[in-house]
Amino acid sequence: MEKNSSKASRSRLLAERLDRFLLEFLNVEESQRLRDRFRDLLPSGIESDHEFSRLFHHSPEENRDQNLRGYRELMREMWVAPLDGQRRYFAFQLRSRLYRALEATARASIPKTVERKAKGVWKRNGEWKSEYSERIRTLWQTPFEEALDRLEKLTGRTKVCGNPDCPARYFIAQRKSQRYCSEACAGLFQRQAKRNWWETHGREWREQQNQKRQRRGDRVKTKRK
Ligand SMILES: [Zn+2]
Repeated sequence: MEKNSSKASRSRLLAERLDRFLLEFLNVEESQRLRDRFRDLLPSGIESDHEFSRLFHHSPEENRDQNLRGYRELMREMWVAPLDGQRRYFAFQLRSRLYRALEATARASIPKTVERKAKGVWKRNGEWKSEYSERIRTLWQTPFEEALDRLEKLTGRTKVCGNPDCPARYFIAQRKSQRYCSEACAGLFQRQAKRNWWETHGREWREQQNQKRQRRGDRVKTKRK
């Protein structure tokens, strides 16, 4: 019994940490704080070349920032996707991106068995071993996948705050109908909405109220007759 409950509280703590990681990833463009607080959860291989950035000879830091931006964009798309199929599509893209990086890292760890000497001239340096192919195909488990699992579990609760000036618009809703990340945003926005309503309709409303009062007054008069 106790064992189970401590296991449950551990998994709850992990889920909470994964939620904090996801929100930090989505809401903060600058990656320093993310890297300080959640280094262990970041996707593997982000400092190597992204397949399309190879031509530009980026530094590891540039690669890292570009890769993080790429992940962030896909996570945001998944967060707001209105249809289940669309969510699954972006989830698939996120995993493809991660697994391609893992595969590239494994590939880079394999000794070069063939070398190009000149155009059309190749030199064989060693035998290709079947374990190399196996190494490329074997994906090792990474903590970032737990964050992706968590992201998938949050379906229906991933929201963007209705206050356009909110400092952290991506939030996890407690109720499916929730539109604002916090009381502060909801209160502020409802007050603002009320003010806007009064500015555009206030005069009309007051005139209608006056007319109603007058009609009531008229009826009272006619009754008295
Ligand atoms: Zn908000």
